[in-house]
Formats: sequence, C-alpha cells, structure tokens
Amino acid sequence: MEPFSYSKPADDAGAIAAGQADRSQFIAGGTNLVDLMQLEIIRPLAVIDITGLGYGQVEPLPGGVRIGALVTNSDLAYHPLIANGYPVLSEALLSGASPQLRNLATTGGNLLQRTRCPYFRDPQITACNKRLPGSGCSAIGGFTRSHAVLGVSDKCIATNPSDMNVALVALDAIVHTKRAGGVRAIPISELHVLPGDHPERETVLEPGELITHVELPRLAPATRSHYLKVRDRASYAFALASAAVVLEIASGQIERARIGLGGVASKPWRAAAAERVLVGQPPSPEVFAKAAAAALAGSRSQPGNAFKIELARRTLVRALTETVAGRS
Ligand SMILES: Cc1cc2nc3c(=O)[nH]c(=O)nc-3n(C[C@H](O)[C@H](O)[C@H](O)COP(=O)(O)OP(=O)(O)OC[C@H]3O[C@@H](n4cnc5c(N)ncnc54)[C@H](O)[C@@H]3O)c2cc1C
Ligand code: SF4
Repeated sequence: MEPFSYSKPADDAGAIAAGQADRSQFIAGGTNLVDLMQLEIIRPLAVIDITGLGYGQVEPLPGGVRIGALVTNSDLAYHPLIANGYPVLSEALLSGASPQLRNLATTGGNLLQRTRCPYFRDPQITACNKRLPGSGCSAIGGFTRSHAVLGVSDKCIATNPSDMNVALVALDAIVHTKRAGGVRAIPISELHVLPGDHPERETVLEPGELITHVELPRLAPATRSHYLKVRDRASYAFALASAAVVLEIASGQIERARIGLGGVASKPWRAAAAERVLVGQPPSPEVFAKAAAAALAGSRSQPGNAFKIELARRTLVRALTETVAGRS
C-alpha cells in the first residue's frame, strides 16, 4: 500500500479544506474505502477522518426527519423514527452487508460506496473506464451477471450497489452538503450521475464537498412502504434486483406512488414510468404487471445479464403486491 497521511480535523472547515487537496479521501466507517485501498484501486495521498465532526444523530424535524451523515447503518435501521415512520429504509439497511459491517458503515459512506463490478475491483485489469478513464470496459462482452440494464452507456455498465440509496430514492430524500462555497441541498435523484461518456464521474459532488446530513420528508398517514431484495444468498450478498415501494392508497385507489429500483441500474433508479402507470388505478395484478413492464422498458442488456430484466419486473410486482397486502 502506498504511504498516505492521516488527519482528523476538528471542524467542517478543516475537513473541507483538506478534502480539496489532490488524491485526498474522507474516511467515515472505512468499510468501502479501506477495502479499495487494500486492493490498491484507490491510492489516496491523504486520508481525512471525519468521525469527529458530529453528525451522529437522527432528529425529528417539523416536516420529516434529519439523519446525520455519520449515523451508522445499524443505528439508523433500528431508530424508532425510521423503523416506525420509514420501514422501507429500515428494511433496505437491514438487507445490506452483515451486522458487523452495518455497525461501522455510515449514511454518508453508504451514499458514496463504489460499484462492485469485478473488473473495477481487480487492479490487474487494465481496461476499466471508471478506474482508468479512456481505457475501455472489460465488462462489455465479458462476465456481466451482476451488471446493470438501466442507465448504462457503451463506456460502462456497472451498477450502484447500495440498498439504502434505493429506499432513499423512493422517499424523495434530500442530501445536504457543505463545500468551500457554502451549503447546498441535493435531491437524491440528482446526486448520482449516469455513466455516459465519463463513468469516472459518479456524483455531482465537488472535491472536498462534505455530506452533513440527509433529510426525509414526512410521509402522508395513508402511506405503505416496503423494500424487497433478490440475491444469490439470503444474507451478505448484493442485490441482483431490488425494489423500494412507497404507496399512498385511499378509497381503494393508488393516489401517489414512488418506486426505486436497485441491482439493475447505473445509479439508484427512480422508476417514474411505473409510477405514472400506478397513479389513479386500483391496485391489481394487471396494473402491477403494466407498471413493471414500464419500469424496464428502456433496458439494455448483455447476454450475461439479460435475465435481470424479467427478474426486476417480477421483483417489482412482488414488492407492490406485498406492500398492498401490508407487508410493512
Ligand atoms: C463484504 C461487504 C458486503 C457488503 N454488502 C452490502 C450490501 O449488501 N448492500 C449495501 O448496500 N452495501 C453493502 N456493503 C457496502 C457497505 O454498505 C459500505 O461499505 C458502507 O455503507 C460504506 O460506509 P462507510 O461509512 O464505511 O464508508 P467509507 O468507506 O468510510 O467511505 C466510502 C466513501 O464515501 C466517502 N465519504 C464517507 N462519508 C462521507 C461524507 N460524510 N461526505 C463525503 N464523502 C464521504 C469516502 O471518502 C469514501 O469515498 C458491503 C460491504 C462489504 C465490505
Ligand atoms: S462496467 Fe464500468 S466499472 Fe466495470 S469494467 Fe466497465 S467501465 Fe469499469
């Protein structure tokens, strides 16, 4: 491992200033960064420990809940404001990684975790546009079982691996940051960017921009929500396909629908076309099937991941069915 400096700034200004230096990295739980440093995929010159900055609380707001960027995935999943008020988020968090990892992993780190594309994570591989811009993509035409079918480009087909992000998309979360120029609030659906011609750029964040907290808007009383994850093993495995469903149902009709898809897309995916099919309809197997077809309409697969299109459709139909049945 290359030598690097370690610092633990006492305040946000110190962290933001240090974070702007070339090849610097914030570290929170370290479960993704240290892993990638050990593999020599990320080789920072400076590691900036942000765990002394506060941001470890979950607090009620008049219009929702504020989650500090350093709240661990375990604390968040079991916090009564989340477990009772936003069950889809609890379910998503508890479906991820292992209890030991969730005890360390933080909200900010989970938002920014890197892809699990095996070619990205193998330093011997020399063609990976995300890691080495302009070098090509080893996955296209290669082993693609875990890769994306939505939002892909001919430069990169990697998935965003986070479960939490999928629930946050369906909850219309707002990500709050601090940077040298001040603060900003970024809707979760605008935080991550599609790979396009520049897969090396994954978010709209600037160097040294610090995520401070995430805000969840209050849900209407009639809301039901649920997260369903389909994977190779029942635990300790990333999603092959997942769906986060948030529905408001009144007088036997879906009044509002918000759908996130995971395991199948280059970024946490908002299935707006599926939402449009659902709104104004009574819940039924036929409507759910139409919504799932709409969600996957623009998909582009490789031979090795074509199965994901049908898998994602079925995952969404089952998640909708279980949500209406009161699964959460
Ligand atoms: C074996 C294994 C299995 C896993 N399984 C799953 C799974 O099934 N589902 C799932 O969703 N995840 C899974 N994960 C990933 C895990 O959830 C992430 O590693 C974790 O959430 C990252 O959080 P962290 O605090 O450890 O981040 P770190 O490793 O500390 O940081 C990750 C990145 O975020 C940046 N960062 C961290 N905090 C901030 C901040 N506040 N502002 C700006 N930048 C910041 C860092 O600079 C770094 O680039 C798994 C991980 C492992 C190792
Ligand atoms: S899919 Fe993306 S991350 Fe994977 S090898 Fe291709 S460019 Fe790299």
